[in-house]
Amino acid sequence: MIENGQFTVIAGPCAVETYETTLACARSVLNAGAALFRAGAYKPRTNPKSFQGLGDKGLEILEAVRRETGIRIVTEVMEPGLVEKVAACADVLQIGTRNMSNFPLLKEVGKARRPVILKRGMAATLDELLHAAEYILQEGNEHVILCERGIRTFETYTRNTLDLSAVPALKELTHLPVIVDPSHGTGRRSLVPPMALASLAAGADGIMVEVHPDPDRSWTSDGKQSLDLAGFERLMEDVKRLLPHFGKELAPAWPKRTPHAARLA
Ligand code: PEP
Ligand code: MN
Repeated sequence: MIENGQFTVIAGPCAVETYETTLACARSVLNAGAALFRAGAYKPRTNPKSFQGLGDKGLEILEAVRRETGIRIVTEVMEPGLVEKVAACADVLQIGTRNMSNFPLLKEVGKARRPVILKRGMAATLDELLHAAEYILQEGNEHVILCERGIRTFETYTRNTLDLSAVPALKELTHLPVIVDPSHGTGRRSLVPPMALASLAAGADGIMVEVHPDPDRSWTSDGKQSLDLAGFERLMEDVKRLLPHFGKELAPAWPKRTPHAARLA
């Protein structure tokens, strides 16, 4: 889990694409110091004609990549009926911004024996985010990680407006860990490293960053906000350099799952 005094870096592509690109990405981010690998098998897309993710095939690829590299997996679940299946593959479940207020889904992930990353709704107040977290906690799942990922404002240069004040504010309001997603928060690759470092300075417990081996050929539009492998390595060098100034250590890669932990309770 996310420990006090540690900075947890989660990295990977927006979506699972081929086994080869997913594996290459996982190997590279693990090597650069990521604790967890992210990639969506089920993608919530604004346009129904956009690539919706590989679904079950995507979960199979993620399992194969975990077997090969040992890296643990964060992936999104969008439907209450899919929680059991996704949780059997994922080490950490992600609830996306569009589902922050999907209360049946929150209750269902509250019953899963997996940590949950709860992303802030794009128009949600901190109070609403905390109430959404309570739905999960109330079902007995104490491992909720809050994620600031930018909110909708009148600004159009950036995809969203990353509300970094949410980090210290949430720290005042709750004991739950808080991470930041500077990729969706800005929508622009060039802005991701500075906002990732600013997240660390603001007191975040970690970051979740989109990384793709060839971002301009990504299967989703999120290539624009994805770092390439070398860009992620450079960011990690800066993170490692800054961490001691904030009294933190880089969280190590999460250990391999035991067969017992792989089963849902
Ligand atoms: C994602 O993490 O790829 C994603 C879809 O994020 P969000 O729900 O924050 O838009
Ligand atoms: Mn994305």
